[in-house]
Amino acid sequence: MIEQRNNKTDLKNLSQDQLVEFVEGLGQPAFRGRQIMSWLYRPGITDFEQMTDLAKIFRKVLAENACFSHFHNPVIERAEDGCVKFGFKLDDGFMIETVLIPEPDRNTLCISSQVGCAMKCAFCLTGTMGFKRNLTPAEIVNQVCAVRDFLINEPRENLIGPDRVTNLVYMGMGEPLNNTENVLTSLSIIQEQKGLDMASRRITVSTCGIVPQMKRLGEEANVNLAISLHAVDDETRNTLMPVNHKYSIDELLEACRQYPIQKRKRIMFEYILLAGINDTDNEARILAKKLRNIPCKINLIPYNESPELPYKSPSKKRILSFQNILREAKYSVFIRSSRGSDISAACGQLASKN
Ligand code: SAH
Repeated sequence: MIEQRNNKTDLKNLSQDQLVEFVEGLGQPAFRGRQIMSWLYRPGITDFEQMTDLAKIFRKVLAENACFSHFHNPVIERAEDGCVKFGFKLDDGFMIETVLIPEPDRNTLCISSQVGCAMKCAFCLTGTMGFKRNLTPAEIVNQVCAVRDFLINEPRENLIGPDRVTNLVYMGMGEPLNNTENVLTSLSIIQEQKGLDMASRRITVSTCGIVPQMKRLGEEANVNLAISLHAVDDETRNTLMPVNHKYSIDELLEACRQYPIQKRKRIMFEYILLAGINDTDNEARILAKKLRNIPCKINLIPYNESPELPYKSPSKKRILSFQNILREAKYSVFIRSSRGSDISAACGQLASKN
């Protein structure tokens, strides 16, 4: 279903194909849809009147039937390490968060796919908010548009990385594969050359493991997949991640084996290290065994502690020992550095107060 604002269709909810259908419904030829697409995602375009290659009369018809939304005045917090957290207020008053993670050669944007989250992972603050609602495609792509505009306006000397968003991860608030339809539409807009024109290899969707939806993502999009694994046995994973009751580790890993990855691409397994819970050498060995035959890399995430939750991060020594075992088993293993934690922008810390 396509969302409407004031009975007008928000064109940013539409993939290019849907936009073509929309203009055809207004009695226009298909190419007008593609023409509009190429205006919608240009910086500084806020009014149909600016779309100068459309006939005046058609611009008027468009304005009567459609609109295109933007995020305005985000709440911006800057971390000491250069991360920037954006809080966007939605039309119905909910807030969502988006995090820009700059590095010298790239700007990774971590975007949200839902308000809150239904998955109730025991260690994650977003989970404690509960699920409020899915984001629309427009609300997903507008996060990218707003941060693109922020980077355009930011003084060069403030920039650590490039002046544009280079990489996109669906790792903010929410479970993207509980909102697959809208996530797929957002992906098609983001990848479309007349849309935001980002390459699929620079886009990653992260999931806690909604197995049937992984299949759909693999069939309908061509993006990198990240899996929040976080445990090697069902008993531990059941207590940490209730979704595991529905889709066990073995089912999840089988779905990963089936996931169509392109040559040279690998699935990324995310594994939060929680002191005393999933961080022993033995668990590292089991992990190495379980991931055999899956082209993958492993991202170890030292737990970002929060006063609201009981979990602790292991010692540096424990983390390195865990990494070492996986390295010896010939995996590419990275320890994800915690970024933006002084402004609660790090993994698992996104949670709005309302
Ligand atoms: N729902 C999706 C997308 C969220 S990604 C998913 O589960 O993959 C956010 C990542 O941060 C997930 O891997 C999540 O498990 C992890 N995370 C959650 N809380 C965390 C915390 N306190 N410290 C470190 N990582 C955390």
